[in-house]
Amino acid sequence: MHYETAPAKINLTLDTLFKREDNYHEVSMVMTTVDLNDQLSFEKRSDDKIIIETENQYVPNDRKNLAYQAAALMMETYNIKTGVNIVIDKNIPIAAGLAGGSSDAAATFRGMNKLYGLERPLDELADLSAQLGSDIPFCVYGRTALCTGRGEEVKLLPKPTNAWVILAKPSIGVSTKTIYSHLEPGKHEPASGKVVEAALAGDYDGVIRHMKNDLEEVTVRHYPEVKKLIQNMEASGADKAMMSGSGPTVFGLVQKERQAIHVYNSMRGCCNEVYRVRLLG
Ligand code: ATP
Repeated sequence: MHYETAPAKINLTLDTLFKREDNYHEVSMVMTTVDLNDQLSFEKRSDDKIIIETENQYVPNDRKNLAYQAAALMMETYNIKTGVNIVIDKNIPIAAGLAGGSSDAAATFRGMNKLYGLERPLDELADLSAQLGSDIPFCVYGRTALCTGRGEEVKLLPKPTNAWVILAKPSIGVSTKTIYSHLEPGKHEPASGKVVEAALAGDYDGVIRHMKNDLEEVTVRHYPEVKKLIQNMEASGADKAMMSGSGPTVFGLVQKERQAIHVYNSMRGCCNEVYRVRLLG
């Protein structure tokens, strides 16, 4: 039996640069991880099947699950004949902009690497994982990084800052594909370079001053409640509040625990799914 933790990610930036010939958007994103985790366990089987178990009724337990796809790709790539039971204890909200499915897939690449004693380096697993989704290579490392291309080119960064993160998820699911289809790329000034600079200098104020997500205005146009949450979070004392990924989850950063408790309690008054966690980095 082997266990892995799969943390949620947040975007400190999401620059959409242009639409490519392959229809993906060229992006530049500074992403980091927070202490809100799915837990996965991996156990070898006596046959060659991949079995996914999860109690969450909204998470598929067949080949649609990204963890299943990761396990299948590992078996095929490394010629593994012994199957695996994967139990996913789901805590990351689904379709939330927190890369929950991608993080489960990434944990599966790491978990199977250990379970079968493959000893493949993370760089190799990250390259392999890009076949399944743009955010998965970032999740394989599970650290702060600048991600470019369609998100799959990962350059690791040091932890940008110590901070508390308050997450508020409105009770709507947002499709990343739909949000990108309404986007006009290249309209905004890219912010990632400035956030990387501030992160490298350990400059909290610089990070929060330059944080920006180009998808926010698109999601807000379709779901005005997201804008309201951002405003409420800043009014209740967050140093900066912003949407993660394509949304709808909004997160706020603060430095002091007392301030974090205050923002958390205020947000509980206007949103029924709120978390107070540490930035992992
Ligand atoms: P991203 O931020 O990468 O866009 P997300 O947080 O918006 O991700 P996910 O929670 O990863 O979205 O899930 C989106 C869809 O993927 C779900 O509706 C679900 O059907 C499918 N899915 C596949 N595997 C998983 C998994 N292990 N956990 C959750 N959802 C999964």
